[in-house]
Amino acid sequence: MADCVFQIDHGNLRHHRFWQGKLSEADLLSTADKVQADAWELQRDTGIAAIGLDGTLYDQVLDTVQWLGVIPARFKGLSGLQRYFAMARGAPGRPALDMTKLMDTNYHFLVPELDANFSPEPNYEWLVDKVAKGQAVLGAASAIPIVMGPVTFVCLAKGCPVPTDEAVRRLLPAYTELLRRLAGMRVPEVQMHEPILATSGAGDLRDSFEAAYLELAKAGVPLHLVTYYDDIGSAYPWAVNLPVSSVTLDFLGVPGAAVPNQTLQLIRQHGFPADKRLGAGVVDGRSVWADDGTAVSLVTELLGLGIPHERLVITSSAPLQHLPYDLRLEGGHLPEGLAGRLAFATQKLAEIVSTATAVAVAAADPGSAHGDAPGAVKPQAGAAGAAAGSGEGVAFGQQLDEKLFSRSEAYKTRREAQATFPAFPTTTIGSFPQTAEVRRLRQQLQRGALSRPEYERLITGHIAHCVGVQEALGLDVLVHGESERTDMVEYFGTQLGGMWHTSSGWVQSYGSRCVRPPVVVGDIEYQGPMAVWEYQVAQTYTRRPVKGMLTGPVTILNWSFPRKDISRQQQAMQLALALRKEVAALEEAGCKVVQVDEPALREGLPLKAERWGSYLGWAVDAFRLCTAVAGPATQIVTHLCYSDFNDILPAIDRMDADVLTIENSRSDNAMIRALATAGYRRDIGPGVYDVHSPEVPSVEFIKSRIRSFLDSGILPGRPDRIWVNPDCGLKTRGWPETIAALRNMVQAAAEARAEL
Ligand code: GLN
Ligand code: ZN
Repeated sequence: MADCVFQIDHGNLRHHRFWQGKLSEADLLSTADKVQADAWELQRDTGIAAIGLDGTLYDQVLDTVQWLGVIPARFKGLSGLQRYFAMARGAPGRPALDMTKLMDTNYHFLVPELDANFSPEPNYEWLVDKVAKGQAVLGAASAIPIVMGPVTFVCLAKGCPVPTDEAVRRLLPAYTELLRRLAGMRVPEVQMHEPILATSGAGDLRDSFEAAYLELAKAGVPLHLVTYYDDIGSAYPWAVNLPVSSVTLDFLGVPGAAVPNQTLQLIRQHGFPADKRLGAGVVDGRSVWADDGTAVSLVTELLGLGIPHERLVITSSAPLQHLPYDLRLEGGHLPEGLAGRLAFATQKLAEIVSTATAVAVAAADPGSAHGDAPGAVKPQAGAAGAAAGSGEGVAFGQQLDEKLFSRSEAYKTRREAQATFPAFPTTTIGSFPQTAEVRRLRQQLQRGALSRPEYERLITGHIAHCVGVQEALGLDVLVHGESERTDMVEYFGTQLGGMWHTSSGWVQSYGSRCVRPPVVVGDIEYQGPMAVWEYQVAQTYTRRPVKGMLTGPVTILNWSFPRKDISRQQQAMQLALALRKEVAALEEAGCKVVQVDEPALREGLPLKAERWGSYLGWAVDAFRLCTAVAGPATQIVTHLCYSDFNDILPAIDRMDADVLTIENSRSDNAMIRALATAGYRRDIGPGVYDVHSPEVPSVEFIKSRIRSFLDSGILPGRPDRIWVNPDCGLKTRGWPETIAALRNMVQAAAEARAEL
């Protein structure tokens, strides 16, 4: 079960107190132990028989870096938690590990670094200690260690110049040592998590997998290969025959995906080895909708295929880490019609248990194999999904006029009508520091302790301050600072019809940071301006252009829990139509630059490349539908955040944004070089410094970044179209470092301009 338990209940607060030096290491660790044990006990008390020993202080991938002892050279000299958190967050002179989204989730992991000569120095005592704690809480028979598998680990790492099979081979002695140690502790099995098998690249990994698991099988402990995030596609025939005792497969994949999950078909086609147990991931671990009988009917099919009940293990289709913790925390405040139709992580545990019970009943009475035995959970009529709305959805793509998807002029023509700037114009990505005081204001408003006009008066003060700071620093295009937003999706979701906001549905975004994704519960409706007021307030304090700030339709959808009764495509088009009205409203209010953030565009890509085309087709269409309403003189900016879009360049181009801002400072210009090569010709704002670290970048550093943009070949002869901005929003930073960093940024841009 999920790390969310630790991260959300206590972790958040405690981490920061520890980092601020207000909490001792011993207290941090004992809190972690308690939260971890609570989660295990919850599972045991719900009736889960085999409990994976999860729990991390920050990130599971970082934990793997830590126990394997593949520590990047810059962290040498540090040890223990100091080194662990330095890798996670950076320390003076020691930049943090890269952070990137895991597979197709919205969870960010820390990217391992493997250089040509890497050689593991395993240090797994703390892991062994965790297993011992698990055994103490649960008993040895129920406590199952979880280890990230070597092939997935290598595939998630960056900078590794050695071939994958060679890199995996180098890790094997460390893995074998750990497995032997666990065998000595009499664990019933070890879960080896290899979600990389769900990607289309898995076909190339066959040799690595076969060699690795042949070796690991010798360690003398039963191995349980665990896969998730989708079916394992063409890897199935060989992957299920790896020398392991159990294989867990995902039978559901991504809710609302255009191409349904293929696991059942793969089993039908190729069979499942008779000597293995099958972990059937049939309870939807990626959706907040309650099981509608799908779980039992899938298992019934498996029984029908001749897989005996004793060899079936019922589980969730994905780790529950990506779901909110417990629906009961909502205290019954559910939108009408939703009672009984939702399930968060805690409820999914109960679904796993009830599915297993139903299957046991059915197996005891073979006549009931079609789910109609008394006691068996019967599939409910109708598909799981929205409480309200048409249920059938509207095929918007077919109904909408083609013209709605295109700006009135081509970029070349409309760019001439837009504002011009000197070389290297400066801006930011939107948010400014979210201080405790701003958060308090929002809470007071929510509690009713502050009236709406009073709240707006105080927020106006924050906007004025933010604009004043930017004026004083000399930025060219300003923002209002987003102080009124807890979250870029929630802010719009709460103002749109058809979305429900939980009060406690937190899920982990990275390390110590969580978000509360809304749930799409009906048709999306525009209910009036959402971000016009803050634009107008900001614009009254400056003559410089202020950007109107919106979150794009694809990101709202990808960071929400979608309906299951209509496709994601249909939901994206509904959102796009609503946001289109907001773009028009901003324009109407005089806004000349509208930024539509789509940081989640890439992460919605299906894991299998052959399914990308259909996703990108509708995702880019949704962005275009939202923005094409803008007149030629209105500059449409988009921000794609931290993503590798090397392989989707044509889609980026097809977005037809006037300015593209991207994370860049930690990826060494790879993206802008790729854009240059692909002939991308629109304005670009490659991030010049990392916002995840409190380090203040020097003028020299930023200047060298700007110079490197010129060398990258992007937009030759048009430095006026190369924007200088941070990698992302600044909401997680404090004011002093923000001002210092932006001051250096503006100065670096001015110096680079003078040196042209
Ligand atoms: N405008 C948003 C901000 O600055 C963008 C955040 C993001 O890309 N994740 O906070
Ligand atoms: Zn970003």
